[in-house]
Amino acid sequence: MFEKIHQSIDLSPAIRALEIGEYERALSWSEQAVDQYWKQGDPRAGDAFAVYSLASRAGGRRESVFRELGDLPDQCVYRLTKATLELAREFSSNWCVEALSDLWLLLGQRYGEDSKLACQVKAAIKEKSFDFDPAASVDPQLDANRIALRQQEILRLEVKKQMEQACEETIALARDLAAGGHYKEAVECYRSAIEGSSQLKDPTSRIAALRECGIFFDRIGQFEQSESLLRIAASVAKKARKREAYAEILASLGSCLFHMGNIESAKKALYQSLKQLGLAHEKSAPVLKHLDSINRGVTCDCERLHGGPVANIVDGTVIEVV
Ligand SMILES: [Zn+2]
Repeated sequence: MFEKIHQSIDLSPAIRALEIGEYERALSWSEQAVDQYWKQGDPRAGDAFAVYSLASRAGGRRESVFRELGDLPDQCVYRLTKATLELAREFSSNWCVEALSDLWLLLGQRYGEDSKLACQVKAAIKEKSFDFDPAASVDPQLDANRIALRQQEILRLEVKKQMEQACEETIALARDLAAGGHYKEAVECYRSAIEGSSQLKDPTSRIAALRECGIFFDRIGQFEQSESLLRIAASVAKKARKREAYAEILASLGSCLFHMGNIESAKKALYQSLKQLGLAHEKSAPVLKHLDSINRGVTCDCERLHGGPVANIVDGTVIEVV
């Protein structure tokens, strides 16, 4: 009996299963751990819940595990948040962003979106959700809640005249809209972020808005629009002497040019980016992959990774940069 409890409350096999992609196993192990801790009134139920929520999203579950939950004690929510943030560092998949978003909604509803825990989770989402996957299935309810929360946050920041933060939040909203398949709305949002950022002294938000919008157009197969925005982003970054941002934009531009079939220009941008980023930089991996594809004369796997271009959805849309 003791052994059984001991085995089921050890979370490491569940975490290992998650790491190696055995999501079903991770789910059943973590579920047992949640049960055991919960019955014992042990706050470590929060740790187990963190693994469980990640495993359920990883396994393809389309709604938040927190919905079926009653009132968790504060201590348990605190541990759940800490454990999720720690685990989330290890994973970069879309399901990780989904699990973080579930948690963010829970914390926002419970303690308010300005609460320290909600802000920590939001920062982790921002960091992770950059590589959105347009093909990913998103829970429409979660999607709608998150979008509404972001819209409120933008209004609040605008009223307080915190325009830089409002701009960052608008970019995050555009990213969420894109991830949820709302491409037209995403474009409108990017457009508003680009316009808003042109008024700001610090070029950081402007560079981010232009670059992310450029990447968005690349992902949906509108390469000309993507190239033009990325070139503007590159020139703003260069002028502002933001070396790292500049190198990252060149990486995105190189990929976009490659997708367009403009191999010589792609090669130039990719090599230039690599030279500045250095081989050890985490953003060098996609650069190396594209250079490898060029050298071997094969196509890259971006389409497979991102579900392929979604042509014509926002056709005719042109973002005029002011
Ligand atoms: Zn590619």
